[in-house]
Formats: sequence, structure tokens, C-alpha cells
Amino acid sequence: MNGSGSPMTRRDVLHLLGTGGGAGLLAGSGLFALSERLTAAPRQQGPILRTLQGDIAPSSLGDGAVLFHEHLSIQLGPNPSFHSDVDAMIEEARAARGDGVALMVDGGHPDMMRDLAALQRITRESGMPLIASGGYYMQRTYPPDISTKSAEQIADDLVAEARRDRLGAFGEIGQQGGTLTAGERKVHEAIALAHVRTGIPVFTHNAYSIRATDVPRDSALRQLDIYEAAGANPGNVCIGHMCCLDDPAADIATQIARRGAYVGFDRVTLNGTMPDANRVIAAMALVEAGHADKLLLSSDFYSRPALKREGGPGFAQTVTVFGPMLLAAGMPERTLTGILEDNPRRFLAFSPKE
Ligand SMILES: [Zn+2]
Ligand SMILES: [Zn+2]
Repeated sequence: MNGSGSPMTRRDVLHLLGTGGGAGLLAGSGLFALSERLTAAPRQQGPILRTLQGDIAPSSLGDGAVLFHEHLSIQLGPNPSFHSDVDAMIEEARAARGDGVALMVDGGHPDMMRDLAALQRITRESGMPLIASGGYYMQRTYPPDISTKSAEQIADDLVAEARRDRLGAFGEIGQQGGTLTAGERKVHEAIALAHVRTGIPVFTHNAYSIRATDVPRDSALRQLDIYEAAGANPGNVCIGHMCCLDDPAADIATQIARRGAYVGFDRVTLNGTMPDANRVIAAMALVEAGHADKLLLSSDFYSRPALKREGGPGFAQTVTVFGPMLLAAGMPERTLTGILEDNPRRFLAFSPKE
């Protein structure tokens, strides 16, 4: 069977069975256990990306960047934002495909007025694969009943909502100031519980900004503490808006990466929170510290002038505007491709549990 007439090793058998030599089978007790497994269960499923239109293996998604934190449907104030023009969002998503984007994650949920039906229309009519998210944003957006529920009750509801709405991420999960309120701490604990139960990846929002002088530098680390304490898989956790902290040596970002979580530089090209030149310096420092495999890029799309129809770069701005800045700063093209394509596929892929 292996062409040389020599006996097959267990690894050869596993390879032929297409199980990839999973640790569970290797730990089994010989071929009896193996055949029992074969009749009892279909081929084991690997990690998947849960898009609105179906679960797909990361390897079967076409080439291109994956943007893990954008907004295609959102309303934070009393008045509708430009996102409410669904036809326009379809056009923008189609244009982003043409600019090399393979998949986008919408970072909204019901308390940000994200309209799931709008996302379903956008993915169907543009052909852009989309992942929808769930969760709660920050203290001021929470529905009133959050204050009376326990973390366990909130997690129960999130698990049910994730199943009902085909959610492929929990995000963005935030805090409005530099220190978590009691309610925000409870929500992060609930998200961590829901993640542990389902495997669904999580990305967060921090209050860092060049204008916010009262946000402790380590507030991102305090978020990660909550996920670690709950037993989260750090490989499916991303601490977000790290590109809005003035951290030229990437000191805080490096601590996150060392703990196994992803570092979200997910407001690139967004004006008013941190100049892109500072973001480039911090990103290069994180890469030079050996953590290119933990950096995630996205643009948190919230700027009307950035729309293609307004003459801007559109949803692909992370790839077409910020990527070239990293190359100009000396990042090898191979490294940038890994950051834009491989890292987000790894972060977003999970093995569904519940
Ligand atoms: Zn945010
Ligand atoms: Zn956002």
C-alpha cells in the first residue's frame, strides 16, 4: 500500500483514513478501537469558518485577505448611519472582493443595531462571504435586563442565539472607559463562558485612543485575564484596538502575544484615534519581537468618506492602503501575506462543540 511492500505504520493507516493522525486515535488501543470508531462515527470534522451561508474549511476559502473586524450594518446614535443603505453596502462588498478580500467579519450585534437580514442580503447579492457576530458592546448600549441576569444566564442566551443566527464570532465585546464597569466585567465573563461551550472565537474592543488620557495602558491585559480565568483557548481570542494605544515598542501587544492571544490592529486607516505612522511603528516592533503570527489587521469600517462611492478606498483599505505602509517600512511581502491571509483564518477557525 505504500509502494514498497513494507508493513503499514499506524500513521499510514490514519493517513489513508483521512484523519490526519489525530491525537485521539493515536492514543486509542490498536486497530479494534480504530474499526469501532470507523463504524460508530463519520470522518471527524476539522476546524471551520462559520459563515452566514455555511461552514467552510479555511483551506477551501479562496485566496485573499480576511478582515476580522468591519461594520456592514450598524447604528450607534439616534440617526441611521450610511450603513443603512443596504444596496450601497452590497456594491462596496462586491468592490472589496475585486480588491482581494476573501471574507469579512461584521463586528456588530443587536445592541449596535446590526441587522442580520441586511447582512444575509449583502453576502447573497455580493458574493462576499460574511461572518456575523454576537454579544454586547459596552455599558451604555446594554439592554436593561443585562443588569438582572447572571453571567451564566447571559451565556445561555448567547449560546442559543449563536445557534439560531449562525454566529461565527463573538465581537466586538467592549468597555466604554479605561476600567471595566461591574456590568462590563460580567458580560466579558459571559462571553468567555459561551466561547468555552461553543468554541466560537472572540474579539474585543478597548477604549484606547490618542485622545483618551485616562485609559490605563494595561487595560487590554485585564480583559485577557478574564478569558484566561474562564479557560478560553487563547488561539481563538483577539484583544482589539491595540493600534490605538501609543506603544511604539509594542510592549503591551507583545505581552498579549506571549500569552497566546491575537493582537488586533483593527482600526488601521481610521482617523482620529491614532496616526497610521504610529500604528506602523508598533506593528513592526511586534513583528520584530517574533510575533508576526499573532498580528491581525482590519479597519473597523465606520467612515463615510472611505466608501468607494465617495471616492475612498472602500472596505479593502486594510489591504490597499495600510498594507503598502508596512511594506514601505520594510516588512517582507511574505510576512504581510501571512498576516492578512493566514492569521485571521487560524483565529476564526474553530471546532464546533455545542
Ligand atoms: Zn470598537
Ligand atoms: Zn467595531
